[in-house]
Amino acid sequence: MPKKDSYDLIVVGAGPGGASAAIIAAKAGLDVLLVERATVPGEKNMSGSVLFRELTESIFPGFQAASIHDTASSFASLAIKWSIDNDEKEYGVHAGVGSAVMDHQIIVDRSVADAWCAQEAVNAGAEPLYATRVDDVIWEKPIPGGMPRVIGIVTDKGERIYGKAVADASGLHSNLARKTGLVRYPKDKFQFAVKMIFELPADEIRRRFGFWTGASGLPTYDWGLTPVYFGSNPDFYAAHCNAIPDENVIEVVLYSNLTEMIEADTNIWQRMQWFLETQKHWLEGAKPIHVNFHALNTFDIVGYQFESSYLPGYVLIGDAGGFANPVESWGANVAQYQGRLFAELVAEMKENNDWSEAAFARYEEGWKNSFVGDDDISPMCYMFRDGTFKQLWLSLDEAVSAAVALKFTNHPYCEILPAFGPPFAPFMAKAVGLVSPLAPLVKGAEHGLAKLKDITNIVQKIKD
Ligand SMILES: Cc1cc2nc3c(=O)[nH]c(=O)nc-3n(C[C@H](O)[C@H](O)[C@H](O)COP(=O)(O)OP(=O)(O)OC[C@H]3O[C@@H](n4cnc5c(N)ncnc54)[C@H](O)[C@@H]3O)c2cc1C
Repeated sequence: MPKKDSYDLIVVGAGPGGASAAIIAAKAGLDVLLVERATVPGEKNMSGSVLFRELTESIFPGFQAASIHDTASSFASLAIKWSIDNDEKEYGVHAGVGSAVMDHQIIVDRSVADAWCAQEAVNAGAEPLYATRVDDVIWEKPIPGGMPRVIGIVTDKGERIYGKAVADASGLHSNLARKTGLVRYPKDKFQFAVKMIFELPADEIRRRFGFWTGASGLPTYDWGLTPVYFGSNPDFYAAHCNAIPDENVIEVVLYSNLTEMIEADTNIWQRMQWFLETQKHWLEGAKPIHVNFHALNTFDIVGYQFESSYLPGYVLIGDAGGFANPVESWGANVAQYQGRLFAELVAEMKENNDWSEAAFARYEEGWKNSFVGDDDISPMCYMFRDGTFKQLWLSLDEAVSAAVALKFTNHPYCEILPAFGPPFAPFMAKAVGLVSPLAPLVKGAEHGLAKLKDITNIVQKIKD
């Protein structure tokens, strides 16, 4: 039972977004209720996730030094491969062995990290209400011509709890987001993930993966030693295999877009069987001990899907609004960022005693004017959405095939280089708008230039 019947801020869901909102609001002296359906936050999460080190530390000071990382491991380099139509070639980006490009991330077991972060929010003064599912919102009596206002929540036990502001951080497919009518998820928006955990003795894992002590002081290996795949048949799948020696586990994850799986007449478990075949070398003798299925936001082929991210009294945070980063689907950082942003705004609303629609609208302005909004309209996303990105890889694949064939049939480079032209024609056609309109790219570029204006002003001032 909650201690009070009314709060400044009710946070629904104690994942990364909810815990961030709760801790920042509690530290600002607000009355905060943190409601979570699990008995312990993180209880139902799949293990293993990458958090953004600096952002997490700035919201939860002491995070990096916390004992939850005692058995953690880390990545050094990065190798991402894009595989096309399951043929024999892979293309990708590889940061060299032993590099430190991955240092700004920290690998956590989400079932442990979520509990730790939520406890920090509670230590800061947020009131926990766990093992409680929020089933509905309470609406204010409609004011003619006004936007409907949310003034509280209804729990699965029938409790009616009032709040000046409700942060819906209840994750993908939020029942509240559907009830408030703000989000409609099309099937293009979903990826399914399957994660398998294998057990193997720590020494054998260290030997196979070649661990050393990295810059972070943690056992480290090169991510990309094992294949880190992205691919396009079906589109937008991703797969990787990670090792955590001090927990005696190797985890294998595969994500695949729902629409693409339907079109390719395959399913996530078939895809996983294929991926496991490619991982035999790492998994030999390892015992499967856990399997978990989960949905997550897809790499974005449809864009954010909401009518509005707020109503007076209510906002969508993180996965509840379908907000994972549209370019590569990292989502915890987006949820954390939005959680903090909203908590800071609620603190201002209380200070100014201004709970107007305009005050809540500042939340949407805030995230739109950050990396969360910028990435949704970046040219990269338009390239995903109209197929240009896929065409780029297909063109590259064809060009490389042609060039290699010419090389090994003794053709000179003056004949090999022009062979790159024709395969890139469909890509160029898409990119310059002969097939698809250029407008979205221009829109993205304009937005980028507008963002750069501040920087150019600063440079100008320095010059002056
Ligand atoms: C396999 C997999 C791997 C991923 N890897 C990464 C990664 O490495 N890095 C990354 O940044 N992102 C990753 N993501 C995405 C990331 O997990 C999400 O974007 C992130 O968890 C979103 O945070 P959130 O706070 O919005 O929601 P969630 O983390 O989903 O938290 C929602 C919380 O609300 C609770 N809840 C739900 N409904 C209710 C209700 N009605 N009442 C009360 N409580 C409720 C849930 O129990 C949960 O605790 C991954 C996702 C998956 C599935």
